[in-house]
Amino acid sequence: MNITPSLPLNDRYDVAVIGIGPVGATLANLLALRGLRVLALDREPDIYQLPRAIQFDGECMRVFQTIGIADQLMPGLFVAPGMKFLGADGSLLLDWQRSTERGPQAWHPSYRFHQPTLERALRARLAEQAGVDLRLRHEVFSVEEGANDVALRLEDTASGRLLRASARYVVGCDGARSTVRRFIGTELEDLRSHERWLVVDVILRRDRPDLGDHAVQYCDPARPATYVRGPGDRRRWEFMLLAGEDAAVMSRPESIWQLLSRWITPDDAVLERPAVYTFHSVVAKGWRSGRLLIAGDAAHQTPPFMGQGMAAGIRDASNLAWKLADVIAGDAGEELLDTYESERSPHVREFIETAVRLGGVIQTQDPEDARRRDREMLANPQVFATPQPRLGPGVHAGGGPAGLIGEQPVLAEGMLFDDKAGYAFALLVDSTWDIAGADPRVQLIRADTPGARDWLRRLGAGAVLLRPDRYVAGLAAAPQDVKRLLQFAAVLCEQLAPA
Ligand SMILES: Cc1cc2nc3c(=O)[nH]c(=O)nc-3n(C[C@H](O)[C@H](O)[C@H](O)COP(=O)(O)OP(=O)(O)OC[C@H]3O[C@@H](n4cnc5c(N)ncnc54)[C@H](O)[C@@H]3O)c2cc1C
Repeated sequence: MNITPSLPLNDRYDVAVIGIGPVGATLANLLALRGLRVLALDREPDIYQLPRAIQFDGECMRVFQTIGIADQLMPGLFVAPGMKFLGADGSLLLDWQRSTERGPQAWHPSYRFHQPTLERALRARLAEQAGVDLRLRHEVFSVEEGANDVALRLEDTASGRLLRASARYVVGCDGARSTVRRFIGTELEDLRSHERWLVVDVILRRDRPDLGDHAVQYCDPARPATYVRGPGDRRRWEFMLLAGEDAAVMSRPESIWQLLSRWITPDDAVLERPAVYTFHSVVAKGWRSGRLLIAGDAAHQTPPFMGQGMAAGIRDASNLAWKLADVIAGDAGEELLDTYESERSPHVREFIETAVRLGGVIQTQDPEDARRRDREMLANPQVFATPQPRLGPGVHAGGGPAGLIGEQPVLAEGMLFDDKAGYAFALLVDSTWDIAGADPRVQLIRADTPGARDWLRRLGAGAVLLRPDRYVAGLAAAPQDVKRLLQFAAVLCEQLAPA
């Protein structure tokens, strides 16, 4: 990695990633794994320190595994048992249970984490990757698309120098107020939830096991609130701000301790980092225009009730990086990049719409509505299951397991499937099948353990083709179907292949 104060003029990169938050850092790492020359830019001198994401899922952990930081992250994570929604009188309205055992992804379904620590690990990994040019305090203010590349104009804010660079593609991972999104000219579709919440992280001074390990949504119309057990000594409370409440006044320590008094006092904990946010729910209508793309909060934002904002951005990065790499290598036509939005947009939308529905339960403020809500929910007890959306139309056969996230079986000698596959297409195949002349870009992996064979059996297939982002591309029921399946991978759908 190269952190230098100013950019050589007119340097040309494969991809410029604008914004090195969790999504940009993940994308830049994955692009580097595919051997691309990446310019990674962020306008800030350091990682954002205010409280934000606290939960991610096993699918994100698989992406971190691919990048090579999962084992390093593991000791700093807390395996989360789920979330309870309590009514105004404390009765259990909804139970969202998460297993604390490792699941089909080979990781746990839900982890609590400290976002700045994750971002530091992603950036440290980026520092080890060849081909990555990481520039902090570099703010991009203009992107101009040409026939073969994109011209970037930026300011090195440490020196005030104005610089230029060019890249074949530019991905704006530049957050909610994305500059790249404005250059694309895309608008946001409003999914209609915009509420102000005060978010308070504390560090416990002493053990308080009575606070519990489950997250709790206090669906109290007088003051909707959330408790989340973070990793180590970190605990979080979130309080909905009511109409007319002044964010600055509510963020004062005396107001915060008043709100927290039901659970803790200054003898129990120190306040770490309060912040007031408006939780938006929006999806951009257009994630790509020519050589410009957006990912993460630049493309969609969700209220945090499902812990899916950053997670969705990590999925964007994993979906997009291999497509960019294939297009840049000449293995696929540019149209492949259109499948990024067609696949990802409906997927993230399902999470946002579910979060908005849960937000409706949590944020009810009319006491009569809350009583009716509690009566109805108690009369129909529900166990909430995590959505498992299918990708929208794109590079998968559609139907059955195609377009869904695949499992990660353990292979011989305890090796995890993804470690063997790398960030590439992989075919898990019945170990008795004779597969001749397979595409060298597809890793052939024999189902050589009971776990791997069992997954094939449950799929009703002898082979399953997984994409680099671990989504199922398609199945083969018999050995003669494998050729067709591999052709499908090799050309990434024939209609997407370069002429
Ligand atoms: C209170 C709260 C709780 C949350 N809880 C969860 C949770 O539990 N789980 C979850 O998955 N998500 C959660 N989220 C959402 C999550 O924090 C965000 O989705 C995530 O941080 C977005 O990452 P990003 O990389 O897309 O954008 P950001 O993290 O916003 O990064 C954007 C980066 O772009 C840089 N940048 C912007 N413009 C430019 C420019 N012109 N030039 C150069 N650099 C630029 C910025 O400096 C910044 O570093 C929560 C959010 C909040 C506020």
